[in-house]
Amino acid sequence: MAYETRYCSHCANPLRWITAAEDGGDVARLRCPACGWTHWGNPTPVLAAVVEGDDGRVLLARNAQWQEGVFGLITGFMEAGESPEAGVCREVLEETGLRAKSLRLLCCSEFLRMNQVLIAYHVRVDGLPGDVRLSPELLEYRWQTPEESLCWPAGTGYALAEWIKQKGVEPRFGAFRPGQNPEPDPQKWPVRYWDQDPRFVVAPQLG
Ligand SMILES: [Zn+2]
Repeated sequence: MAYETRYCSHCANPLRWITAAEDGGDVARLRCPACGWTHWGNPTPVLAAVVEGDDGRVLLARNAQWQEGVFGLITGFMEAGESPEAGVCREVLEETGLRAKSLRLLCCSEFLRMNQVLIAYHVRVDGLPGDVRLSPELLEYRWQTPEESLCWPAGTGYALAEWIKQKGVEPRFGAFRPGQNPEPDPQKWPVRYWDQDPRFVVAPQLG
């Protein structure tokens, strides 16, 4: 079910589209005509993990709501009061039963369709491949080598591709849904670091 914010979370009056002056000029947003509360609709931070075991393979899992044969990274929402690093370790433990022993940032990207910000980590875990204990929201899992892995042309797929590239293997992309373009978005792949990426030399254009 898709939820929609319709009432003020402070005083419960119906929200209306109201234009008001902000730092960047006049902006129409859902605002409360009674108390002035603004529904900012900020993106939600989503944490993703490329979970790597001691044998150098990556753990992919299939969500219970996904069609057969579709596997993805371990993901979850960042919670209030935790750092992204603590949150991704918590998600890995909750969803796979594996404890993280080290991690590093792989990439960050916007996911406009879902109004999310994806923060992806490479997470090395303790334990043997058979130690995985999936949470009820995940149906099945598999470990695979960088060479075996096929990446999907979307946010978490670019994180997996970046991990594969850092292993010295050329990532391969494919379509995971019918009708999906199998080619990576040239704006998003390859992931560029600040010293290689012109977006960080020239400040991004603001509307
Ligand atoms: Zn209100």
